[in-house]
Amino acid sequence: MKASFQRSLLRWYRTHKRDLPWRRTRDPYRILVSEIMLQQTQVDTVIPYYGRFLKAFPTFKALAKAPLGRVLKLWEGLGYYSRARHLHALAKTVQRDHRGELPNDPEALRALPGIGPYTAGAILSIAFGKNHAVLDGNVERVLARHFGWTHDLRTSQAHKKVWTVAESLVSKGKAGDYNQAVMELGALICAPHAPRCEACPVRSDCRARKLNMIDRIPFKRRTQTLPHYQIGAGVIWKDDKLLISQRPLNGLLGGLWEFPGGKRKPSESMAACVAREVLEELGIRVSVGPKVAEVDHAYSHFKITLHAHRCRYLSGTPRPLGCRAWRWVTSSQLKNFAFPAANRPILRHLRRQTSGT
Ligand code: SF4
Repeated sequence: MKASFQRSLLRWYRTHKRDLPWRRTRDPYRILVSEIMLQQTQVDTVIPYYGRFLKAFPTFKALAKAPLGRVLKLWEGLGYYSRARHLHALAKTVQRDHRGELPNDPEALRALPGIGPYTAGAILSIAFGKNHAVLDGNVERVLARHFGWTHDLRTSQAHKKVWTVAESLVSKGKAGDYNQAVMELGALICAPHAPRCEACPVRSDCRARKLNMIDRIPFKRRTQTLPHYQIGAGVIWKDDKLLISQRPLNGLLGGLWEFPGGKRKPSESMAACVAREVLEELGIRVSVGPKVAEVDHAYSHFKITLHAHRCRYLSGTPRPLGCRAWRWVTSSQLKNFAFPAANRPILRHLRRQTSGT
């Protein structure tokens, strides 16, 4: 069964694989960039970012030399910004400790910033042709359905077993193609909803299909309702300049720029929230005016509604009390900074205001 699973998958992959930019290279750097970008992100979204990123930073050396702000700017809109920070740190480490070449030793590779078991397996197999497995959401779903696993795979014990099975199935000598074939099957055929079993190359041995349990595999935990926060932000003007602040490097959206603000407290008005947050974050006083944008945005573990208010600077010298840095900028300079997606409607509002539309 194992040999026929591998054979059928590889045969299918040879004729059905998508022509993707990172499949036209064996350069470990380019494969690494694609694997990092593809984490939690759709292929179609990644393609234009991948091209622009490699044009700007064609080598580890170019990436290591670039300022982090430029790296984040090229990542702007792709989300999960810790990936960009880790990739930048990784390039510096590779330049400093590995003579500019990605190590092909599993331990050295896993010691690099941002390299987890999945990325290590992908690089080792696809870039270096080593017999290592990968396990992402697509692979897990294909295996769970193929073997008819009805239990929760998110426990650490179950997860270890899935890894063991994934490793046992890797085609020796063809691990790169085999891994990409399983992931491709999960992406194109064995989709989370309504898989196209009639086009599946391994359908004859699929337990979930035989047992008519496809919609119950893989096992899903009940999703909890995400907390929803109300956030106030100040678009602070002083003459023709705007005040922006940079988030601390560690944590959510680390290193990105934003309009200063934060969570509203219970029973606090939005205007009071904005004034308090600006004072706490930058040590300045502002008068809070009308709302200029309201944005709903969902992150992986919570949702926000962002209320951006136009503010007028009153007093105080900005200090980075709750942020990494701050700048007074003209609206035309905003394009030089990387902002989170939730700030885009505010930027659009400012562009409209500047152009008088
Ligand atoms: S037969 Fe259907 S459920 Fe089974 S692996 Fe193929 S696509 Fe997935």
